[in-house]
Amino acid sequence: MKLCNAAEAAHEFLEQTGLDPTLNRILILSAVVASGHPLTAREVFEAVLDEHKINRVTVYRILDLLADKGAINRISTGERALHFCVGHDHSHFHCTQCGQVQCIENTTLQFDEDAIANSVGMTVKTIALHLEGVCENCSTRSV
Ligand SMILES: [Zn+2]
Ligand SMILES: [Zn+2]
Repeated sequence: MKLCNAAEAAHEFLEQTGLDPTLNRILILSAVVASGHPLTAREVFEAVLDEHKINRVTVYRILDLLADKGAINRISTGERALHFCVGHDHSHFHCTQCGQVQCIENTTLQFDEDAIANSVGMTVKTIALHLEGVCENCSTRSV
């Protein structure tokens, strides 16, 4: 895991949200930043544990804090485990077979922001869609 660059990014995120950059917060946020896809709290816990002794409750509490402050996204898929990722203005794909969650750039999805704004009569600032289906791995496996 490339924790060095991720740690820098984590520092920046914490600064933006006004949270003190404590070691635990940096390690947890770095793990989320370094991952290419959304992680569950358990996966974050395991990634941080590789670097530093930490207890699970601390990880859960800090993830909640970071999500409340907007430093990370909390993604609910309807399954028991929440997923966490960084970045704004993107959507998520949830595989209903393996439970994996992926970030999807909004630019790869086609929608008309103006039309959406007109139809609901509101100013749309961010769009995040929740897509569900079968991921590439699972669809090749089931053939
Ligand atoms: Zn899958
Ligand atoms: Zn995401």
